[in-house]
Amino acid sequence: MVGIVIVSHSKNLALGVQELAVQMVQGQVSLAVAAGIEDAANPLGTDVMQVYEAIASVLSDDGVLVLMDLGSAVISTEMALEFLSPEQRAKVHLCAAPLVEGTLAAAVAASTGKNIHQVMAEAQGALGAKASFLGAMNCPLSVHTPHSHHHERKTHVEVPTREIRLTVNNRLGLHARPAAQFVATASRFQAQIFVQNLTRGSEIVRGDSINQVATLGVRQGHELLISAIGGDGEAALAALQALFINNFGEDDSTVEPLPVIEEILPPTQGELAGIAASPGVAIAPVVHYESSTPVTITEYNIENVEVELQRLHTAIHTAKQEIQTLLSHTSIQIGDAEAAIFDAHLLFLEDPVLLEAVEQRIFDHHLNAEAAWQIVVDEVAKSYRQLEDSYLQERVDDVVDVGRRVLRILLGDLPQDLDLTEPSIVVAADLTPSDTAKLDPSKVLGICMTSGSATSHSAIIARTLGIPAVLGVDAQVLALEDGTMMALDGEMGKAWVAPEAETLGRLEAKRQAWQTAQAEAKARAHQPAITQDGHQIRVLANIGSLADAQLAMVNGAEGVGLLRTEFLYLDRANAPSEEEQLAVYQAIAQVLHQRPLIIRTLDVGGDKPLSYINTGIAETNPFLGVRGIRMCLENPQLFKTQLRAILRASVNSNIKVMWPMITNLTEARAAREIFTQAQTELRQGGIAFDERMEVGTMIETPAAVAIADQLAKEVDFFSIGTNDLSQYVMVGDRTNPKVATLADAMHPAVLRMIQQTVQAAHAAKIWVGLCGEVAAETLIAPILLGLGVDELSVNPQAIAPLKQAISQLTIDEAQALAKVALKQDSALSVRELVYPIG
Ligand code: PEP
Ligand code: MG
Repeated sequence: MVGIVIVSHSKNLALGVQELAVQMVQGQVSLAVAAGIEDAANPLGTDVMQVYEAIASVLSDDGVLVLMDLGSAVISTEMALEFLSPEQRAKVHLCAAPLVEGTLAAAVAASTGKNIHQVMAEAQGALGAKASFLGAMNCPLSVHTPHSHHHERKTHVEVPTREIRLTVNNRLGLHARPAAQFVATASRFQAQIFVQNLTRGSEIVRGDSINQVATLGVRQGHELLISAIGGDGEAALAALQALFINNFGEDDSTVEPLPVIEEILPPTQGELAGIAASPGVAIAPVVHYESSTPVTITEYNIENVEVELQRLHTAIHTAKQEIQTLLSHTSIQIGDAEAAIFDAHLLFLEDPVLLEAVEQRIFDHHLNAEAAWQIVVDEVAKSYRQLEDSYLQERVDDVVDVGRRVLRILLGDLPQDLDLTEPSIVVAADLTPSDTAKLDPSKVLGICMTSGSATSHSAIIARTLGIPAVLGVDAQVLALEDGTMMALDGEMGKAWVAPEAETLGRLEAKRQAWQTAQAEAKARAHQPAITQDGHQIRVLANIGSLADAQLAMVNGAEGVGLLRTEFLYLDRANAPSEEEQLAVYQAIAQVLHQRPLIIRTLDVGGDKPLSYINTGIAETNPFLGVRGIRMCLENPQLFKTQLRAILRASVNSNIKVMWPMITNLTEARAAREIFTQAQTELRQGGIAFDERMEVGTMIETPAAVAIADQLAKEVDFFSIGTNDLSQYVMVGDRTNPKVATLADAMHPAVLRMIQQTVQAAHAAKIWVGLCGEVAAETLIAPILLGLGVDELSVNPQAIAPLKQAISQLTIDEAQALAKVALKQDSALSVRELVYPIG
């Protein structure tokens, strides 16, 4: 009789499944269990020797079928096979069937004397009965395990394979950002995606691996063959095709031309020639920076594979959190396009092929995590270096950067921040993109590096931050003493050590001219936005942290139209205390100097759950679930703590509070009731707050629009959230690329909702703002203003261009345009009204 082995992390689970199986076949089955580990404090895990013993105990000529739960259960089983002789190993079959259903089906089949192949087929078809019972026969029955070592080990059930050929049109091919978009899209689907660069005749690689996709060396004009295996393959291919059609969101006409460096001139006396990487002139003393002290990794053998894997995963998790912070910092401070570099870093850490290779080394060779990680990262870096394409070769910087980050965490080293006290020129052999993104332009006046190129991510970030940079200079600069005077011209690609008076004078004049031009551009952003016919439109900022508030002020924001408070609550074990919140709100209010600060109360739940709030059930439709105000009203204590902190911060500042996701009057009234309770408590405790604080609500659900006239009587202002309003009006999930374009705020259905909201607000004599992303589109702004919106709130980077756009229009023109827009038959035709043809 065929033997069956259950491998699970949990002994309880395995014994339970065994009990069910034994009962079904009245003990007529040869079944063994290998589950849990001998560690009373932490009993979950799998043990290779246990698996080996379990297999050996039921092994016969009829064969053994092994069913496993997840992850390391599969790996431990594979390792256990190594202890068997080749003949024995040939009799053992690992089965991808689901653990419970598969074991039961296999037990029944084995007890009736079926052979190993029949038993395996029964196990693999085990979900069929349940699926047909639930009317889900159209679900793919294959088990898709993108993260398993053996993704090729599919079930016998036929899975559809679809193919598509696409040509890459964007100028730089699948460079970091589009490659990241490709991988992120491919990973979203159950189907397994494979890609081949037909033009290069490359190998077929996995579409969910950033490194494999990037190293295909895809350039403009290359043709790719993309295949999808699995049930939602068609949807996956459609989503990927949409990326190609949209040129990966890149507008090649605006791509900054890469500086062409004809030759590096030999240095004249005291002059160092390099690559012009970021324009501008800097004159300052030098400071050396080493992004990470060189580490020697000791390679050693580890005892406990599970523990080592855990170390690796914890380090990767921490690295991801660090990158996430850097990503939001970069996206706010520098821009979304530059932040996408860090999206690619995140994808690198999620690359299943890379992770499997590291895990394999830990398992097969019992290598320590640092050594295993470094070996694999070096291999990936090498494969990038070997590419013919110089642009892709430069992505090695990113691989090294993210590789170092994980290594540093594994080694327990602290991140090295460049903490300058004086304005300086930073001299370094190398600056990673992460180092560059963290530089403070008020202290780092220039960058002089011995490595790098004009197209490296560090150079791109330096340009966006406005820090002059000269790269690729002679290594002799590394020998300069800290404090040595240096001048550099990032436009000419030259640096001067201890420049002579004449050179200094010339450069100083150039620097002053450059600074004046920069200052003028900034100053314009601080002027009010007044239309040609004299209407002033308030332009405020959407922010999510204190740093954003500072940036908003620098960029000319007239206040904050939306403070998303989620950042205080996410990625932590407990809710923030009243005092903690108070400190942050006060600090932000202080930066704003009496300018309005609209604090939106917590908008989490649904797709952004909090680990410390138990919502009771897993939601199938999180966007329609306990989100925003619903979650707060279910947790009144949490809500009241936030309201108390907001109220306390309002002393001597201009704070307003705003509710998210309101759909009915009951919610608005219940929120107000808790707000009133918080006020009463503070009054009783003799704690000061602004008694006249305005209370507003987001209008971001169709229900709120429909009852806007009633809601307007409950609050002091509205703020239209078109991000959510569009998705709910158009019934198109804003995170689902297949329908995201449906959820366009420019659809007349949404525009009419905006109009209705404005009319209800103005009839009730309250003002109405708009804080969805669409407000940042300068060509769209006239339509919004024509609909009567009183203020716009956008990300800090968008403030200056938006003010500029407003100052060029008249309200009459805007109203006429809005009137026409409302009558269009699609979002596209509305956009065609304002976008240049062609
Ligand atoms: C909105 O929904 O338009 C909005 C501004 O809020 P968020 O994007 O935070 O949901
Ligand atoms: Mg919203």
